[in-house]
Order: sequence, then structure tokens, then C-alpha cells
Amino acid sequence: MNSIELDGRHIAYNLQRSKRRTLGITVDAKGQVIVTAPDYIPLNKIEKVLLKRQNWIIEKVAEKSNNVQIQPKRQYVSGESIYLFGKQYYLKIELSNDYNVEKDLHRITFYMKDYTETEKQVTSWLYEQLISVVKVISEECLRNFTSKFAIPTIPVFKIRKMEKRWGSCTEYGVIHLNPKLVAASIECIEYVIYHELTHLIRDKHNDYFYRDLIQVCPEYLRLSNKLNNETVIYAL
Ligand SMILES: [Zn+2]
Repeated sequence: MNSIELDGRHIAYNLQRSKRRTLGITVDAKGQVIVTAPDYIPLNKIEKVLLKRQNWIIEKVAEKSNNVQIQPKRQYVSGESIYLFGKQYYLKIELSNDYNVEKDLHRITFYMKDYTETEKQVTSWLYEQLISVVKVISEECLRNFTSKFAIPTIPVFKIRKMEKRWGSCTEYGVIHLNPKLVAASIECIEYVIYHELTHLIRDKHNDYFYRDLIQVCPEYLRLSNKLNNETVIYAL
């Protein structure tokens, strides 16, 4: 894996030598940059081309890294993995007349009347966990953001199902966060919040956008890659 500094950001790229006669740059679905180049083009020439196309590369990496990958549907049965804020637990379903949830180091146990309720109960519990965490960290992120930037409106945070995005921001300052973020680590959720807060002042993913984002979230590239590549997401 090679790496290059583009506009102050370290971008890793996979250099593949090929028989083709032109140099090609693509960004795959996971945000990985792939460069194909003929054998005779030296590395410094390749890097010159990358520098020339840096805006396009940076935008594509951030865009793809912000896509949601959906895993097979969860079955909601005992023994199944359940991911909460970047940590893996085992799901356990126990029949009981009194609804309750217990979480220890490795296991989350749901007590419920019958198995027909499992999906509903587990899903709504996960929603509750995300809502309470977002409440705390969105306040911190907002405080940090407004200490650096003036914002046109105080945003409202909502959890909303989205097919392809981790978050979105309307022109009226409503920030929607994907419920699947409940499986992501806290630092990745913070990254998504900072990304959407930056949309309050920057519309497009251009240089100005990343220049502002990096001030509140210096590790946004590592975090967007981590979010996309390491977060195990189930269809909630
Ligand atoms: Zn965006």
C-alpha cells in the first residue's frame, strides 16, 4: 500500500501496475483508492497526477466511506452476535413475565413473554441506547463546533432510517442519524455528527468543507474508513 499527502490528508492507495497504456484512478465502494499505471511510469509522475486530481480523490473517498453497508438480517435468537457502540456481545433471550434487559461484559440478556416479541424488543432497546448516547455526545460536539464556527441555526438531532447514508442535514438544520450507528464506536458516531454539523455551514464536500471539518475532527479520514470497514451493521 502506498500513501500520499493530498491537501494535508494522508491518503492510502493501492498501486497496481498493468499493461494498459494510460493511468487510471478509481475509488471503490469502501473508499479505497486504486491506481492502475503502466510499468514505465515512475512513482513521482504518478504522484503528480494524484496531486492534480486531489480534489476529486478526497471527495470520492469521503463520499464512499460514508456509505452504509448492510449485513444479512438479524435473526434475534440466543447466541447471535449483537453490536453495541463498537463492541460485540452475545444476545440471549430468556422467557419471563417481566420485561427486562441485563447487560454484562459479553452478553445482553432480554427477558420477555414470548419469542414473537424478540425483534421488536431488541430493536427498540437498541434505539433507546442510541438516542441516549447521541443526546450526550451531540451536545459536546455542538459545543466544540460552535466554539470555532458561527452557525445559522441550532440543529435538532433525530434518528431516522436511511438506506445509504450515515447521516444527513436539512437546510433547516435537522440532522438525521442512521439507527445503524448504534453498532458503531462512539468516535465514529462523533465523526458523523461533526460531518453533519459542518453541513450547517458548508453545502458541498469541497475543500472548504474539509478544511472546516478537520478543525473539529482532525481524524475524520481514519474514522470514516473505520466506520465503513470495521462497523458490523445489521439491518435494523
Ligand atoms: Zn456530507
